Amino acid sequence: MITRTPAPLHTIAHEQRESPVSGASKQPPTARGDWRAQLRDCIRTPQALLEQLDLPATLLPGIRDGHALFSIRVPQAYASRIRTDDPNDPLLRQVLPLDAEMDVVDGYVNDPLEEADHSPLPGLIHKYTNRVLLMASGGCAINCRYCFRRHFPYEDHQPSREQWRDILDYLRADTRIHEVILSGGDPLVSTDKRLSWLVEALGEIPHLKRLRIHTRLPVVIPDRINDELLGWLGATRLQKIVVIHTNHANELDDDVAAAMSRLAAIGVTLLNQGVILRGINDTVATQTALAERLFECGVLPYYLHAFDPVQGAAHFTVSDTEACALMEALLEHLPGFLMPRLVREIPGRGSKTPLGSAASHVSVIASV
Ligand code: SF4
Repeated sequence: MITRTPAPLHTIAHEQRESPVSGASKQPPTARGDWRAQLRDCIRTPQALLEQLDLPATLLPGIRDGHALFSIRVPQAYASRIRTDDPNDPLLRQVLPLDAEMDVVDGYVNDPLEEADHSPLPGLIHKYTNRVLLMASGGCAINCRYCFRRHFPYEDHQPSREQWRDILDYLRADTRIHEVILSGGDPLVSTDKRLSWLVEALGEIPHLKRLRIHTRLPVVIPDRINDELLGWLGATRLQKIVVIHTNHANELDDDVAAAMSRLAAIGVTLLNQGVILRGINDTVATQTALAERLFECGVLPYYLHAFDPVQGAAHFTVSDTEACALMEALLEHLPGFLMPRLVREIPGRGSKTPLGSAASHVSVIASV
């Protein structure tokens, strides 16, 4: 059942157009190379989003309503890849607030993964035996409308330096933990000084083997992959994995490809996780183009997440049946090593749950 809070109705069709990045937005001068300035100067108001992308004024009430629930944030580097005057652009759809976000839909909740139940210390989520997730930042460079953490109480998960020491003690005490995942928000929003301190401390814990960083920053502000970052990341003894987050091939321009090359050059394994989103990447053509472009950039598709039922984003839902059918069809278009695993995170389970064709992904790889 859907309950809509009183708000003007200005929905847009979910029709998708497949075309390369062209007619992209008017981009104001940006501070090339200065990722912090780009973080500061991103689009943050309904009016600015509307004007820069030549969107019809009729969208404004819906944008305002959605923005009031979860604020707009779009870096200029990302906005430059969005076609102007096209409310259905697949990149725009990921950042454009809609009045549909006001819908209160049964079964859609604020914390669909029940992460708050697995947090023994502020900033630490320990769901799986041998790996933990650290919330290295409470902010993101971009606010994605479908985010399953759009309601997460980040303010309660901002560890002080003292609390970071407690987290490090927790990691030292549990020798079953082999892998630390830096997440957030987006961990790369943090300063290089803080990240350098943290990663050096992690490297001193003997039983840790791997450092994984889940980040969208190399995609939305490729200049984030700067010399300082390459310095501290390259210096750690831990095996390094960076899992970027992209949902559409148009997100991966030449600047993103160059950022991926810089990471690969210091020995980082590059993977991608995306979310299946109605009207954005729920076709064979879009998923094939994404996988092919990822590989051109040196990135392997890793997870395609089934949509998490987060309140305010129900309009992005692709059913599991539709998602499984899409995966079956994809098998005819992609080699096994470019097939992402379709998974759903089910609260209380000890691992992600493969769905449909993804459940037989391992045998697919073995057969190629
Ligand atoms: S970058 Fe990731 S954590 Fe941040 S809003 Fe987007 S999906 Fe959510």
